[in-house]
Amino acid sequence: MSNNNPKRNKIRVRIAPSPTGTLHIGTARTALFNYLFAKKNEGSFVLRIEDTDLERSDPKWEKDIIDNLKWLGIKWDEGPDVKGEYGPYKQSERLSSYAKYLKKLFKEGKVYHCFCSEDELEAERQYLMSIGEPAKYSGKCREIPEKEVKKRLAEGKKSVIRFKVSGKKMKFKDLIRGNLEFDTLLIGDIAIAKDLATPLYNFAVVVDDFEMKITHVIRGEDHLPNTPKQILIQEALDFPRPEYAHLPLILGSDRSKLSKRHGATAVSDYREDGYLSETIVNFMAFLGWNPGTEREIYSLRSLVKEFSLEKVQKGGAVFNIKRLDYLNGFYIRQKSIKKLAEISIPYLKKAKLIKEDPDIEQLKKIISIYQERLKKLSELPDLVDFFFKDKIEYNKGLLKWKEMTDEEIKDSLDKLEELLSKIKLSNFNKENLEKILLIEAGRMGDRGKLLWPLRAALSGKESSAGPFEIAEILGKEKVLKRIKEAKELIK
Ligand code: GLU
Repeated sequence: MSNNNPKRNKIRVRIAPSPTGTLHIGTARTALFNYLFAKKNEGSFVLRIEDTDLERSDPKWEKDIIDNLKWLGIKWDEGPDVKGEYGPYKQSERLSSYAKYLKKLFKEGKVYHCFCSEDELEAERQYLMSIGEPAKYSGKCREIPEKEVKKRLAEGKKSVIRFKVSGKKMKFKDLIRGNLEFDTLLIGDIAIAKDLATPLYNFAVVVDDFEMKITHVIRGEDHLPNTPKQILIQEALDFPRPEYAHLPLILGSDRSKLSKRHGATAVSDYREDGYLSETIVNFMAFLGWNPGTEREIYSLRSLVKEFSLEKVQKGGAVFNIKRLDYLNGFYIRQKSIKKLAEISIPYLKKAKLIKEDPDIEQLKKIISIYQERLKKLSELPDLVDFFFKDKIEYNKGLLKWKEMTDEEIKDSLDKLEELLSKIKLSNFNKENLEKILLIEAGRMGDRGKLLWPLRAALSGKESSAGPFEIAEILGKEKVLKRIKEAKELIK
């Protein structure tokens, strides 16, 4: 690239999602790497919405993509919602640019109208494959005389605009994959627009990357076959060539390309499932990048410092859900109780455990005894529902510790009722309960005989936080009520 123009020296990268679906984890990873590269190099990160496919694009997906990128903390310096020098940042608003360059290509004889139907093209492909030739377009419409072209267009015959590919060996350097060589003889003339107002992907990208002064195209490896096509179009338009970096594929546990078959692929699914944005960012960074040390925990800010394209691997990056859970547990434990309570509210509301105005202090207490064991926020309702319910359901077998008989369980429950009802309301806290109940439990030889039925009666669960902490949060009245209900069960 020319270095004469100072503006050209500034690193400019982009993420260019098509709003044809929810934000995919792969697109989010590409966005993250572009963002990190831009920030590390004091460059600019651009969001461009590639909505030229009118049938498949939908504003609701654009909103989803923008919302989820924002949630991840990946901020762009220019984009549809942030003013910049090189806008508009939505392809549907850039049609005049595409028309301008298409006209230029027509004028220079570098493109032509192709009237072949899909069926004809398919038959041609099939034939070529059957004789072992590369399945590329023959270029036969190149030869249609101008008058005939005009006539057909006037008749409204369907056509596309094709770019003439002159076969040659093309070399380019990929910052991750090294020197690459393509034989463009294998490509065939490329359809680059349906008409002057309807550009297709490979052409629109080239025009936009040029007009937005993109210096580095960092994108998924699945786009590698597009790169030689885009370079040919750039050369025809006399545009400078950006640097390229193709990120490794994201693979599922069976090492095939990550897809829905392996589980969720949408960022919004992970978000709903209760993964924190810090987790997703940290996790995605390692989908292809590695600091080369043992360090595993990286905030967005520390990634900006440490990231470099040199440390991006060539081979596929395996999506390891166990690692994701591990990281989420870590980040959940890092949160303040107040923050964790706050972000738990939507999950508890969804499970209909709390209403509009929850008791935050009580919620904080509950969260504080579950923070350690929580892996993702969506697990919370099942762990803590018994705090919010009036009556809990469980089988009486749950009250039984080891070989205890019903009689023994009943005795324990009686004892608990007697001891707990004597404790003053103002003393009904974890420390006191522990002090009083442990003495009695000690007398019974096996502590479990008193403490297990208590914990089970209060929570109705096989496993939960400890009985003293639960009892304090439930409060004296509810605790005694649950013991009574347990006694009813054992009768
Ligand atoms: N719209 C393309 C996509 O979503 C962008 C590809 C590119 O970065 O050039 O995959």
